[in-house]
Amino acid sequence: MKQIYLDNNATTPVDERVLDAMLPYLKGMYGNPSSVHFSGREAKAAMENAREQVAKFINADPSEIYFTSGGTESDNIALKGAAFLNKDKRNHIIVSSIEHHAILESAHYLEKEDFKVDYLVVDKDGFVSPDELKDKITDKTSIVSIMQANNEVGSIQDIPALSAITKEAGAVFHTDSVQAVGKIKIDVDELGADMLSISGHKVYGPKGIGVVYIKKGKRITPLFHGGHHEKKRRAGTENIPGIVGIGTALELAESLRESEHHRLDALAEFFIDGVMNAVPNVYMNGPRNERRVSSTVNLSFEYIEGESIILSLDMKGIGVASGSACTSGSLSASHVLTAMSVPIELAQGSIRFSMGRFTTKEDLEYTISVLPEIIEKLRLMSPLYSKK
Ligand SMILES: *Cc1c(COP(=O)(O)O)cnc(C)c1O
Repeated sequence: MKQIYLDNNATTPVDERVLDAMLPYLKGMYGNPSSVHFSGREAKAAMENAREQVAKFINADPSEIYFTSGGTESDNIALKGAAFLNKDKRNHIIVSSIEHHAILESAHYLEKEDFKVDYLVVDKDGFVSPDELKDKITDKTSIVSIMQANNEVGSIQDIPALSAITKEAGAVFHTDSVQAVGKIKIDVDELGADMLSISGHKVYGPKGIGVVYIKKGKRITPLFHGGHHEKKRRAGTENIPGIVGIGTALELAESLRESEHHRLDALAEFFIDGVMNAVPNVYMNGPRNERRVSSTVNLSFEYIEGESIILSLDMKGIGVASGSACTSGSLSASHVLTAMSVPIELAQGSIRFSMGRFTTKEDLEYTISVLPEIIEKLRLMSPLYSKK
């Protein structure tokens, strides 16, 4: 059976070109970049080349790029690292209520460590309000973390406005750009970001590699202690194949960004119209405009549970997610949709279709063609539907 992968926000396949760049470092070139001899120099050169690629991608200096094990670690380093550094003087933190769990759970942990955390609300389209940030921020706030683009509904925040308010209060601004990478422009100066997180496997690179950008002059308390790697901010022998992979993946993503944006924008519009014309009682979560990452399409199918749609689509060879991939398996509605005030019945019937570099129009035509029968069948079994 043909497999159609519409879960690119959960992870992406490794691009052949990325794999080709990595392979030599998984085979003959095994050096430890800390070694002084020939093999260490070879590894170190590859690592510093990748650091330059990453720096160029976000318009930073290579000295501001730190390699980590992924988006989760980058988020942890930024939030906890900045929080603990200043605990005595500033013990207040602000995050949005629709952050990835890497930020939300870190914030919950910090609450247990006696930090005070405010969670900014969002409107029905998934946007935080700069005015609310202005109200909540104080001279005790150490860090504000608000994601650039949301993984479930694709909403793109007004990061320059939010970072400006943060700066005025003397706090540090972090943004989780994992879902923005390759989709919208990332320029740390334009964004006004002091810290920023990226993950390799969301951008056609390998899993287990990430980047945290820390602006020159900003400091953190490291989470790991060990050797002198990454200027002592992230101890541990560097993942050279992964580092070469993420460098290549970001360079490639930037060269394809404009053309992919236009292609995916058109595909998403085609898909949304197609599903809404083929199936009644479908509602879109998130904005249907340029303030959304267009490849993320979150639809609620009234009267049914998302889980059952996932299973039915899976039987047709189509891979999608309900809510965020990390919460699938749990029955509670997505925290993002709940924060957007989506009614619980609709939140539970939501499906995230996330398109990517290898998604074709044929994939979407096929998905649209199988949906009406699946939805009708599930609705006929639903007690909510028969009662209406
Ligand atoms: C996937 C994701 C992460 C976590 O990245 P990993 O590399 O999987 O740890 C963090 N933030 C967002 C928005 C994500 O989509």
